[in-house]
Amino acid sequence: MNVWTVLGEFSFLALICFFLVFSLYSLIEREKKAFWRSALFVVGLASINFVFRLITLPLKAWLFGAIFILFTLFLILLFFPSLKRHSVEVSGEQKKVDERDVIFARFDLVEGTRDYEEYYKRRPELKKTDGEIRKIPDILAPSHFGKNPALFSLAQVEFDFLEHQLTQVQGEVFPERTRYSASENTRMIKSIIKYLGSDLCGVCFLDQAYVYSHVGRGPDPYGKKIVLNHEYAISFALEMDLGMVASAPGAPVIVETAKKYVEAAKISIMVASFIRRMGYSARAHIAGSNYQAMLPPLAWKGGLGELGRLGILITGTYGPRIRLGLVTTDLPLVPDSPEKLGVQDFCQKCQKCARNCPAQAIPYGDKSEENGVLKWVLNREECYRFWRKAGTDCAICVSVCPYSKPDNSFHTLIRRVSERSSFAQSLSIRADDLFYGRSLHRKKSLLDI
Ligand code: SF4
Ligand code: SF4
Repeated sequence: MNVWTVLGEFSFLALICFFLVFSLYSLIEREKKAFWRSALFVVGLASINFVFRLITLPLKAWLFGAIFILFTLFLILLFFPSLKRHSVEVSGEQKKVDERDVIFARFDLVEGTRDYEEYYKRRPELKKTDGEIRKIPDILAPSHFGKNPALFSLAQVEFDFLEHQLTQVQGEVFPERTRYSASENTRMIKSIIKYLGSDLCGVCFLDQAYVYSHVGRGPDPYGKKIVLNHEYAISFALEMDLGMVASAPGAPVIVETAKKYVEAAKISIMVASFIRRMGYSARAHIAGSNYQAMLPPLAWKGGLGELGRLGILITGTYGPRIRLGLVTTDLPLVPDSPEKLGVQDFCQKCQKCARNCPAQAIPYGDKSEENGVLKWVLNREECYRFWRKAGTDCAICVSVCPYSKPDNSFHTLIRRVSERSSFAQSLSIRADDLFYGRSLHRKKSLLDI
């Protein structure tokens, strides 16, 4: 057999095997469109290969040779580290954020109260838009329950449970200190956090720029100055179930969000309590809400992921399909560093979340500066307006994001290759549209009842 024919045959075989594996993974993931389209590629490639075999030499050798050369060029482009990976850029001075300005704190304010009047006197530019949004029934308001009474009730139960945890975030520090080294403490805390149910964990210094200036929600007095002088922030992430997220913006997604908030609260309360037993100060920060610091930038600093176009953290393993938890402490620890996953470059080319956002709240264009950080700035009011219309926390952007694919060998390979090559990023963006569709497709969730 001619050498070019052998090399060409090998190229065909490699491509057919790739699409065969892809179709098998798609079948397991119950991705019908991806399954049929990848199966079509298998049949198409096998057919072309068959036709090439029928051709006589020397044309046969030329054709197989051309296939081999194209395949080799393709592999070089795919694996050549052509990407100068950009990280999240802190471009200016970062001021502390006042939690009272956070959208949920604004919508906790009750019209006619002193806090309400004082807030909008201070921020009159927000009053008109907030007033319009207030006219829409709240997330989980009784008027939404008719859409899915069982699941809306379940989500409410989960949030009610969280409310009971709000006062458990701090406590007495034991007088006796255990004496482990910083690296032993870090190993131990990370292992415990993972054992308790977290999927990712990272540590960073607690940057005061990410500590809220004043209380906007929770059991502490509204407007109280926040003092949080812990040295370290331990961030962790819990994976959200893909099927539940893919029901966005239906009821299962808010059930899943609340469930992960409950789990994150459990882990952070237990870990903070454990650290206090070791003789060091620690505080849990939980949703519901009793946060004193901003979780996404601390998780970024702790190496959990990068900020994406959709305005939240994208992890290398689960994409944005996560919920975050946080413990701050004085326990000596070894900080991690922010990771460069190529997310900033990927998002620059991909606009899938922006295209699919029903509120058109995600920018299509370049990043802009907000509080000293160059990022894609979400129109939070428009996003939240849609949440109230849907009655849930939407998450369509999370569901369509190519990074949200399952954590298995196939998608991990795609993610790793996309971290280094600009060509691989462009190809995976197009392939995601081709195999999974350009828009949201809902999947059956665990709680389709
Ligand atoms: S959908 Fe695309 S642009 Fe949006 S966050 Fe995900 S990767 Fe970035
Ligand atoms: S959660 Fe929904 S409304 Fe908000 S940015 Fe994402 S897709 Fe848009």
